[in-house]
Amino acid sequence: MSDSPLTLNVGGTLFTTSKDTLTAESEYFRALFSENFASPLHNGSIFIDRDPETFAHILQYLRTNRFPIFHNSNKGFDLELYANIRSDALFYGIDSLVEFIEKKRFEEQVEVIVTQHTFSHDFISQTLSSKLVIESVHRIEIEEEYWKCPRGIYAHWSSNRCGKECWKRMENGDEGGSMTRTVPKWVAVCTERVYKEVTQV
Ligand SMILES: [Zn+2]
Repeated sequence: MSDSPLTLNVGGTLFTTSKDTLTAESEYFRALFSENFASPLHNGSIFIDRDPETFAHILQYLRTNRFPIFHNSNKGFDLELYANIRSDALFYGIDSLVEFIEKKRFEEQVEVIVTQHTFSHDFISQTLSSKLVIESVHRIEIEEEYWKCPRGIYAHWSSNRCGKECWKRMENGDEGGSMTRTVPKWVAVCTERVYKEVTQV
C-alpha cells in the first residue's frame, strides 16, 4: 500500500503525494519512512518546517525526474532560485539534484542560437519575432540594381514597364535604363533560447 496517497504539510502548505514518489530519490524521506522511526503522521499529515515554494519544485522533480529549468531570455538563469533548491535538495538528501545544480548542468538546458536578419529599415524590433533577442544592429550599404525610367514615371519600375516614348527618350540621350545605386540596410544579430529537457540518467 506504499503507493496510496499521503499528505505533507510543508511550511503550512499541503501537498498530496505518495511514499514511492518521496522515497525513490530522497534519503530524508527514506529515513522518515524507515522502520526505525515511529509513524511520522500527525493529524493525518507529515509536518516539515521548510519553504513550500521550493518544495513544490522538489516534488515536481521527484514526480517527473526532469530537472527544473529556471531561465528567462532577459534575466538569464534564476541563480537565487537554484541556490534555494540546492539548499532544500541537500536537506532532503537528493544527491542527483544537488549535483545538477552544483555542476551547473542547468546550462545544458538552454541552447543559444545566433541568427542574422537584414532589413531595409531601422524599425527592426517591431518586425522581429518576440522570441528573438536583438544583440546588435549595424547599418551597411549595398549596391542595388534598379530601372530608371527616362521620363521619371514612377509606375515604370522595370524595363518592360517603359513604353515606346520612354525608349525613344533613351535613344535621344536622356538618362534611363539599368542603373545601380547604394542603399542602406540594417543587419540585426539576434539570439534565440531553445530549451532542452534534461532528465536524470
Ligand atoms: Zn518609362
